Amino acid sequence: METNTKTRIVFVPTPHNPTGALLSADEIMILVREVPSNVLLLWDEAYYEFGRHAGGPETLPLFKLRKGPWFCTRTFSKAYGLAGIRVGYGIASSSDIAGAIRRCRPNYSVNAVALAGAVAALNASEHSENLLAHIARERDRLVSFLEQLGCQPLKSCANFVAVKTPVAADHLAAALERSNIHLMSFHWEGTNGALRITIGDAGATDAVSVALKLALQSC
Ligand SMILES: *Cc1c(COP(=O)(O)O)cnc(C)c1O
Repeated sequence: METNTKTRIVFVPTPHNPTGALLSADEIMILVREVPSNVLLLWDEAYYEFGRHAGGPETLPLFKLRKGPWFCTRTFSKAYGLAGIRVGYGIASSSDIAGAIRRCRPNYSVNAVALAGAVAALNASEHSENLLAHIARERDRLVSFLEQLGCQPLKSCANFVAVKTPVAADHLAAALERSNIHLMSFHWEGTNGALRITIGDAGATDAVSVALKLALQSC
C-alpha cells in the first residue's frame, strides 16, 4: 500500500470496473488497517450486489473495523437498472464525513420520483434475485463462448466481462460497431488490448458471440 504525505484519498472500486475483479475479505482488511488514518478510504461499490451474489463478503462490517475515515458509495444504476433516474447513496464512517460530502453535493440531487423508484427497487427483492441469477448465468455462458473463440476472459463478479483478445481489441470493437454492438475497448500494456462486454439477455449473449466469431475470422 503506497501512500505519501500528499495522499488524501485512496479510491477502491470493488467489484472493479472494467475488470470485474472482486476483493476478498482479507484484501479489504489489509486496506482497512494499512491506509493511514489521515487518509479518506473511499469504497466504490457500484457493483456491490453482483459481488455479493458471486460470493463476495458483506463489506460494511469490515469497513467499520477501520480506525480512520471511510466512505462507501452505492448506486441504483447497475443491479437495479435505474441509471436513468439518477439515484444512489453513500455510507460514511462519521457524521463529519457525511456532512463534508453533503456540502459538496448539489442541492436536491435526488428527486421524489427517484426516491420512490429506489424504495420500490429495494422492496422487489425477488425480482433482484432473479436478475442477479440471470446475469450470472449469461456471464458464464459468455465466458465459455469467449474461451472457445481463443479469447482470455477475466474472472468477473459484475454485470460485464473484460476479455483479452487474440487480435487488436480496438479493431474488433470497430467491427462489432458495424453490427450495432457497442463495446468498450481498452488499452492493456503488453497485450492486444481488451474488450468490456456488458451482459444483457440471452439473445445479446448469442449476438455478441456470433459477431465476435465473424470479426475474428475476418481479421
Ligand atoms: C456506474 C458506476 C458508478 C455510479 O454510477 P451512477 O449511475 O452515477 O450512480 C460509480 N462507479 C463505477 C465504477 C461505476 O461503474
